[in-house]
Amino acid sequence: MIRVDIVNLVYTTINWISDVHSSPGTPSSVSCCRPEIAALPAYNAGLASDAVKERYGLDSIAKLGSNENPHGAPPQVREALAGLFDKLALYPEAEPRLRARLATYLDEPMQTLILGNGSEQLIRMIMQAVISPGDRVVTVLPSFGLHILNAVAMGGVVDAVPVTETCEFDLEALCAAVSRPTRILILSNPSNPVGCMMTEAQLETLISACPPDCLIVIDEAYREYAARTAHYPDARRVLRRQSRPWIVLGTFSKAWGLAGLRIGWALSDTPALIAALEAVRDPFNTNIVAQLAALAALEGESHMRESVAATVRARNVLKAGIEAMGLDVAPSSGNFLFVRLPCPAAPVAEALLRHGVIVKPWKEPGFTDRIRVSIGLDEENMRFTQALRAILAEPPALEELP
Ligand SMILES: *Cc1c(COP(=O)(O)O)cnc(C)c1O
Repeated sequence: MIRVDIVNLVYTTINWISDVHSSPGTPSSVSCCRPEIAALPAYNAGLASDAVKERYGLDSIAKLGSNENPHGAPPQVREALAGLFDKLALYPEAEPRLRARLATYLDEPMQTLILGNGSEQLIRMIMQAVISPGDRVVTVLPSFGLHILNAVAMGGVVDAVPVTETCEFDLEALCAAVSRPTRILILSNPSNPVGCMMTEAQLETLISACPPDCLIVIDEAYREYAARTAHYPDARRVLRRQSRPWIVLGTFSKAWGLAGLRIGWALSDTPALIAALEAVRDPFNTNIVAQLAALAALEGESHMRESVAATVRARNVLKAGIEAMGLDVAPSSGNFLFVRLPCPAAPVAEALLRHGVIVKPWKEPGFTDRIRVSIGLDEENMRFTQALRAILAEPPALEELP
């Protein structure tokens, strides 16, 4: 079992942040910004297909770097978008119909729900509304980068607890981390990028270890996929059994196939929290196109479910294929796999681009030998496996073994 040295980890994170930032061309000398902002590293966003095509002269790309749904949005969305041109000159509804419709879908009162321009905007709003300089935020490592970046941007101090050697949440270390004053506990369940999942009992144990005024944020970006793993918890039920404030996040970007439109949601039954998020919300933060597409998508739930089922089947096939190469793959409840390579991940990801395959090499300290590969269509997954096998037969940078 790993004992986590939280203090070291904070320094590691800070060092990592300043390393990135001291590279030439970054505006570290600009003095008109808050120091938290000047020190922020760039978000490790996935590469776009067209850019990679152009750079390597390729005809087609397997885009497996951003956990999108390769089966696309429900067909109902196509019809909804067709009549939109005439509406583009108007501002979106101040009280979008989507809010009421989504509340019904989620079986929640409308007042508990707030929409965001992607759930990443909601993560930023939460940090804006809650974090004062010096406030402590606990999360996991490896992490969804925006959970850390948005906290640091507000002057928060982030302690990130590494997953165990076997790539599970380290419950004991997490409980120890939240036993000190903690403003926010934020994590995604299942975890992006690892894919590990906390059960109801584990979630309950962790929440009970938090201070009574700690805000618990559970990011359920992959809930539609994880619902197919046995014992995926109903986080809202667990959170409602206790009195700490909480927020659960969801998104249309993953299983619903609408990543390009940017729309997500936050749920909380603490009225003061919803009011605080409303206070920092840009008045028209979700656009007409995204609202109407999401409304139509909810009418195509069966398409979403079928695409999720296909992806889960393909994930299990791909996992076995990668393991057959002798590589460690973390158990995953999401639409992606976290793969440990025998060498640094960045040059392998670069070599994969030449084969027309986009994956995400991990950059956080301690995990730079991992790639995260999203589950694509069968032929894309095969293309990935074949390319990876060819690359590892002649590893690009084996001498740099960690
Ligand atoms: C993809 C993802 C999101 C979604 O972000 P959007 O802004 O809704 O596209 C949020 N949280 C996690 C953990 C994710 O992986």
